[in-house]
Amino acid sequence: MTALKELTLDVVKVRADFPILERKVHGYPLIYLDNAATSQTPRQVIATFDDYYRRYNANIHRGLHTLADEATAAYEGTRETVRAFLNARERREIVFTRGTTEAINLVANAWGRANLKAGDEVLVSLMEHHSNIVPWQLLAEQLGIVIKVIPVDERGVLDLDAYRDLFTERTRLVAVNHVSNAFGTINPVKELAGIAHAHDALILIDGAQAAPHEPIDVQDIDADFYAFSGHKVYGPTGAGALYGKAALLEAMPPWQGGGEMIKTVSFDTGTSFADIPHRFEAGTPAIAEVIALGKALEWVSGIGLELIGGWEQQLLAHATERLVAVDGLRILGTAPHKAGVISFVVDGAHSQDIGLLIDQLGVAIRTGHHCAQPLLTHFGVDATCRASFAAYNTPEEIDIFVDALERVIGMVR
Ligand code: PLP
Repeated sequence: MTALKELTLDVVKVRADFPILERKVHGYPLIYLDNAATSQTPRQVIATFDDYYRRYNANIHRGLHTLADEATAAYEGTRETVRAFLNARERREIVFTRGTTEAINLVANAWGRANLKAGDEVLVSLMEHHSNIVPWQLLAEQLGIVIKVIPVDERGVLDLDAYRDLFTERTRLVAVNHVSNAFGTINPVKELAGIAHAHDALILIDGAQAAPHEPIDVQDIDADFYAFSGHKVYGPTGAGALYGKAALLEAMPPWQGGGEMIKTVSFDTGTSFADIPHRFEAGTPAIAEVIALGKALEWVSGIGLELIGGWEQQLLAHATERLVAVDGLRILGTAPHKAGVISFVVDGAHSQDIGLLIDQLGVAIRTGHHCAQPLLTHFGVDATCRASFAAYNTPEEIDIFVDALERVIGMVR
């Protein structure tokens, strides 16, 4: 009985943690289906900010007073929480960043500049978010590295044979997402890592869309680098993390200079740098945000990502069933393994119009290119509508969304 009970997410209890779900938008109850862009924040995480600024707001690491000690302990406590969340071996393998974008830029600038030279190759997939394309394009311009693109099939699934064929003796790094934000495809990252390593290449995994939906084990995947953002996993904006294998991080030079990342600074003898991970955390970090990120991950772990992912799969199945029945609607991204993300276009109705009008009925979905223009261009569209699910969404909300969508389509056609 206990095992059975544990398999069901108590969505009423989950929803009670999210004050924002009580609000109305244009007179309608909010139905928030833009979770792939940013998830909502539970009251426990909101309370963390209040507590921090009321009781122990202080700069970390450099103070000898009580408030600084408490803030440092809470900040470093999140490092342990993130380590456990990703199942990293050691705390020092976790670098705090502003989010996934900054984590990828860190790898490109610190690891990339030290290890890549003209003619070296980086493989990225066609379904990358711009934040895992543009940093490599900048390096291509500046260092002369070559970017090669892993193709996808008509379902939005990576072509593994083509992936294998792309490797040469110049391939140094594979940079791929774990889950596509545009189509929801879950990529076989462990397999991708195995193939990369067999070719002596490293793998950087963009986990922005995986962290909220499935348990992550960087050791099992054998990821060299793994990045995610707090604000997509029920945490605040401005805080995320980069996991890097200790040996790799240790061999990397810093990418930003400033306070916190040094051992000694001298005009005469130069500067020596702090050990990892502090070498990569120059300046005052987003202290309250990092502490709140820890609370968010505790909140997620308290429910369990298996349970959250399983619930979202039910929502995905229900939404897919309802959406395919809508006249003229086409889902883009039909991979067999998908997270709770559905992209679609509707004949005779522009995605932007749908997004604007459905907002008038209280439903928040995202429309546009989802920062994945190469993928959308490949599929012959410049925009889609995207509904994405979180632990607090319900099948009833999906019904209201699809009914509203049908109403809106009737208005614009
Ligand atoms: N990668 C993926 C797959 C994403 O979905 C996003 C955000 O949408 C990012 C990277 C960038 O994340 P952030 O803007 O939090 O740095």
